[in-house]
Amino acid sequence: MQGVLENLRNMIYEQDKIRNMTVIAHVDHGKTTLTDLLIAKSGMLSDSKAGTALKTDTLKEEQERGISIKATSISLYHETYEEEKKEEEVVLVPKPHIIHLIDSPGHIEFSSEVTASLRVTDGALVVVDYIEGVCTQTEMVLRQALSEKVKPVLLINKMDKGIKSEHDVDRFYDQCTKIINEVNYIISEFIDEEEYKIDPALGNVAYGSGYFGWAFTIPDMVKRYGKGASSKALTLKETKSYHKFVVSSLIKLTNSITEENYDATKKMLAKINIEIKEKCWEEEHSSDLLKIILKKWLNAADCILNMCVEHLPSPVEAQKIRIATIFRGKRTEEQKESEGDLEEEKEGEGSSEETKGNVDDDYVIESMEKCDPNGPTMIFISKLFPLDQGLVAFGRIFSGTVKVGDKVKVFNGEDPKPQIKTIKKVGICMGKDVESVGGMPCGNTIVLGGVDQALRKEGTIMSEDTTANTFKSMKFSVSPVV
Ligand code: GDP
Repeated sequence: MQGVLENLRNMIYEQDKIRNMTVIAHVDHGKTTLTDLLIAKSGMLSDSKAGTALKTDTLKEEQERGISIKATSISLYHETYEEEKKEEEVVLVPKPHIIHLIDSPGHIEFSSEVTASLRVTDGALVVVDYIEGVCTQTEMVLRQALSEKVKPVLLINKMDKGIKSEHDVDRFYDQCTKIINEVNYIISEFIDEEEYKIDPALGNVAYGSGYFGWAFTIPDMVKRYGKGASSKALTLKETKSYHKFVVSSLIKLTNSITEENYDATKKMLAKINIEIKEKCWEEEHSSDLLKIILKKWLNAADCILNMCVEHLPSPVEAQKIRIATIFRGKRTEEQKESEGDLEEEKEGEGSSEETKGNVDDDYVIESMEKCDPNGPTMIFISKLFPLDQGLVAFGRIFSGTVKVGDKVKVFNGEDPKPQIKTIKKVGICMGKDVESVGGMPCGNTIVLGGVDQALRKEGTIMSEDTTANTFKSMKFSVSPVV
């Protein structure tokens, strides 16, 4: 755990290696189970507790009622592997990432919490139950994500239910295609950009079971079984045949795995190139053996975290696009006059680069669009939460670097009159706990102490010497936009 935290502390400065993402879904489609699985993978929760511990369900009431209420964030350390040529040899080189993950509530009563989590993140993992398909709440939260220019990837979850109950492999592909088409239809209503579309051949959709810990994408399978083929050039027919190959293997494995029939299972494993330790065959009950096999063959946490790293934008990419949507833009002349800006300029106090930035709205906006850690501090606060008998603010830093001791202006919502506060704590949110860091550069989600008295809920924080507009208030909609 200590090693993981040390890794996380180092990663907050690597902007292209950061991902800020929310898990969104209709209630009961499996968000919390999946989030626990991802947390377990990064070493923060033991495997045996995943699925029951609900680390992101921090409120006692949540655990009692069995639903997630308040969106909580947890930061994960994840390594992807890239092929690199080293002295005539191709080797796999680990590439570390930090993923700030938010488990948002799926229940309709808490839709304002969903919007709050979307504002501070750049990507959304949309979880859809394979049997139930796209439901009202999936539609609503996906629309909320798109209206905040948050990019989606998709997990078709609980596929194990289908594997158990039906054996017509074509039906699987058709049901998954139906879900993908529905998701793409919602996306097309909002955004005209091809790169937001879900496409199995691109690998921004995973098929799996959070509960049983397996998942796959088509490019994963092409890489493993495609004999050098490229997933980018896949025809629909080929995509379907890879999907069919995995699903039919899953059905065969699930059905063949009884103590009397291990030979058939062993044959299946040879076909998919998977080896299991000899002692597992002797010691494990068949249902546990199946879990071990699936985890080894199609590890869900690896598959989903890899998909998120590859297909969701880093803050540098995302902020270029998102700032125009979430920030109120340049101040009007009237605003400037009422804040005494024009007078300051007349007095000619601003010739240094730093002071010029303080009175120039373009400079502030540009710093956020560039995700510039040396720019003026600009932070959006999405909520307050209790910590150590007090309250701390949770949000996202879009420009600059904030440290303990910094004096900042705190705007409550869009209220034009700020209060000056001193930052007492800067940290990374780890579910129930907060890990303190000396300073936090832009591109990360953030926990701040010392500012709660000036906020009721959402707000904007900027360095004391910055004069700029605030972020837009979040719009909560509880019914789908028609
Ligand atoms: P949330 O409301 O979206 O957070 O959903 P939960 O993660 O709390 O899951 C709701 C129910 O579905 C629980 O009973 C889980 O055990 C179950 N569940 C979650 N994921 C899966 C899955 O992949 N397969 C099956 N069969 N059940 C699942």
